[in-house]
Amino acid sequence: MATVELSNLQKNFGAYTALENLNLCIEDGEFLVLLGPSGCGKSTTMRLVAGLEEPTSGDILIGGQRVNDMAARDRDLAMVFQNYALYPHMTVGENIGYPLKIARIPKAERANKVAEAAGKVEMDHLLTRRPAELSGGQRQRVALARAIVRRPQLFLMDEPLSNLDAKLRTVMRAELKHLQKELATTTIYVTHDQVEAMTLADRIVILNDARIQQMGTPAEIYARPANTFVASFIGSPPMNLITGTLAEGMFRHTAGQVAVDGAAGPVTLGIRPENISVSDTGDLTGTVYSSELLGDSTLLNIRVGDGLVAAKVGPDEGRAMGAPVGLTLNRAKLHLFDAETGDRRA
Ligand code: ATP
Repeated sequence: MATVELSNLQKNFGAYTALENLNLCIEDGEFLVLLGPSGCGKSTTMRLVAGLEEPTSGDILIGGQRVNDMAARDRDLAMVFQNYALYPHMTVGENIGYPLKIARIPKAERANKVAEAAGKVEMDHLLTRRPAELSGGQRQRVALARAIVRRPQLFLMDEPLSNLDAKLRTVMRAELKHLQKELATTTIYVTHDQVEAMTLADRIVILNDARIQQMGTPAEIYARPANTFVASFIGSPPMNLITGTLAEGMFRHTAGQVAVDGAAGPVTLGIRPENISVSDTGDLTGTVYSSELLGDSTLLNIRVGDGLVAAKVGPDEGRAMGAPVGLTLNRAKLHLFDAETGDRRA
């Protein structure tokens, strides 16, 4: 059972804390995504699990076994990186088979396994090509085949799709998810792209400033962000955060007011763009800053007080720049955060 357990894991580089007291259990076969902005400690976490970096303190268990002192090559895991790291002088087949060669698997057995792994990523017809003769997507497929060929107990993937163009990334994302479910291999995947995290993950761990901000399924995190950091990181475009004052069941803002339950005090009101309707009057008033037709919807950016609020409305609901509008917020979809700490209130 390839569960992964990180227990009180800490990594300091000199006086700098790259990872602070991380606690995390990854289930056998789970697709876990570490999501966070640049420098939050995602790659450090991966490198610790891989054995490329030693923890300052804490434990790493793979399949119930403590691996802190185990060499990287003995951890039975395969890594896929953003830059593919293929050997340019080797053919596709040799690249895919390289981990088997290192493991001294006999040649005949190797050929079978290479063919099978290449087949899984639809590269079996290009085994004699060299990396320079492949497209970016094909190179990424070779890197994936090389990772799966040994059938390791754990995959570590660090932004493996980020060098691909947007269209290919979407295709490869679906292939990767399908492959991971088919192989049922525990996977830790690092990205700073929230769409990738939402679509791939069984569970997302959101990191910021070396600490976990929230852990949960994509649906849980989308529905109940734990703080304003998570709220503003998930969703495209992300949740609007409007700061004002709550008193006597009313959220008050210079641009209007909305009935909201909760204790009095300064609060940040969260509302997703799709939960705002726009007409001539509403809870809040503003003026249209920009109007973008997205095809199946229109994204209106509206100046409300001294900030911008995004509203996703119907494709026929575009408005002229500068037009005065009213915003009605869906009461059932409001989120309340503490204005000072940013933490979810209830
Ligand atoms: P990115 O998305 O940019 O790769 P990340 O979330 O993966 O970011 P890490 O690579 O884990 O971030 O780095 C976390 C922090 O630790 C960063 O501030 C980084 O500068 C620092 N760091 C990483 N490796 C070292 C090192 N060897 N020595 C000193 N500081 C380091």
